[in-house]
Amino acid sequence: MKPAPRTRRSGRRSLTAKQAGLTLAIALLLSIIAGAAELAFDVRSMRQEVVEDTRYRLDLIHGTAAEAAFQLNPDLAAQVSEGLFSGGRVDSVMISDDFGRTMATRQREALAEESQLAHTLFGDIVDYRQTLFYQAAPDAPPTAVGEISLTLALDSLGRDFTDRSLLIFTLGVSKALAIAALLALVFHWFVTRPLLQVHAAIASTDPRQPGQWPKPRMKHHDNDELGHLVESVDELLQAFQQGLDQRDQLHQISTMDGLTGIANRRHLDAFLTREWRRAKRYGHPVSVVFLDIDHFKEFNDQYGHVVGDDTLRAVAEVLAGVVHRASDLVARYGGEEFVCVLPDTGLEGAMRVAARIQQGIHELDILHAHSTCAGHVTASFGVACSEPNESDTSWEALLAEADRQLYRAKRLGRDRIVSAQDCATESGTGR
Ligand code: GH3
Ligand code: MG
Ligand code: MG
Repeated sequence: MKPAPRTRRSGRRSLTAKQAGLTLAIALLLSIIAGAAELAFDVRSMRQEVVEDTRYRLDLIHGTAAEAAFQLNPDLAAQVSEGLFSGGRVDSVMISDDFGRTMATRQREALAEESQLAHTLFGDIVDYRQTLFYQAAPDAPPTAVGEISLTLALDSLGRDFTDRSLLIFTLGVSKALAIAALLALVFHWFVTRPLLQVHAAIASTDPRQPGQWPKPRMKHHDNDELGHLVESVDELLQAFQQGLDQRDQLHQISTMDGLTGIANRRHLDAFLTREWRRAKRYGHPVSVVFLDIDHFKEFNDQYGHVVGDDTLRAVAEVLAGVVHRASDLVARYGGEEFVCVLPDTGLEGAMRVAARIQQGIHELDILHAHSTCAGHVTASFGVACSEPNESDTSWEALLAEADRQLYRAKRLGRDRIVSAQDCATESGTGR
């Protein structure tokens, strides 16, 4: 019987995709959390940088600005304020003398829109005011000569911050993607791929021969869970195989004759029951050849039971050699009696089969000095045929008829083939 076709489930894409998707999701989440933490630190360091940078630049121009205020030199003051502007982050600069008069002022022309975020992050560090001190002579104390005030451009600070944030997030996500892809690859190679190999091997296993499964070789996994999984599956399948072998052996033992190796009486009954039902369903004939070795008691007495057993085996071999259609059956009925069941075979075909068996037994040429019919072992044959219809409930009548013909053959002198007179005409056979 053919095994039912099994539906193959494709595990390759889904398992790898699930695992890759999960790794990616986790990596992205972690990169977002890490990015947010990094940004919090970055705001603090950026604020510090901005303050230090602005103070450094104010310190740098302090001497020149003080000189401009001391000399009341508006050109020099304008140069200083221009120099401060060149940094780009400045919104306005004003230099005034010690009377509060404006000497130079510089203001950005078009004001860009300031974001609320920039205001929150940097609003408190945009205004700077520094008194200008000038030392007229090396030993004179520094005196206040004016003031410089500077306001940083919030929009520029906000833009810088946005650029830095974008960079941090882009780098973080790129790293996460690279790590996720690498992890997915490593997991696919070391876990998913071997698992798929095991799955493919199990899926291709013939359920009638589980012990012959194509056990996959798990390189690098001898001592880990994957290696153990394969070993466990192998042990399980070998145990299944043993069970199947034992079942087959028991089945064979229960249906086989121990001496001759052909079917026994139990198998014959089951076979006849099945074929009888089929013949009734399809309207086919079934024939039976019943044969009994002649004077076998004397043979045993004369040559011993061991030789008798050998003779039974030799006759069984002749039967198996002649009746070789897959649909036929040769069985030992009991003692030195044998039965051939020939489904879909009419009487003439069955008579021809019986003649070939008779011929085969003659050709064995086994000496039987006490036989009344020949100097060698012979057998008598009863042949019967039936085309069962609905009212024929059992094959037993057919067998009984063949048995009757067999004893007619005995009475008529043995070593002959006798058939029922009233059997069906041959049909549906190529014999
Ligand atoms: P007939 O021609 O009328 O059939 O005479 P027969 O002697 O063959 O018939 P009978 O039924 O009197 O004897 C059958 C003999 O078959 C009896 C027994 O010695 C022998 N026999 C039955 N089973 C076995 C067996 O398994 N081995 C051996 N060696 N002999 C067996
Ligand atoms: Mg007998
Ligand atoms: Mg006999």
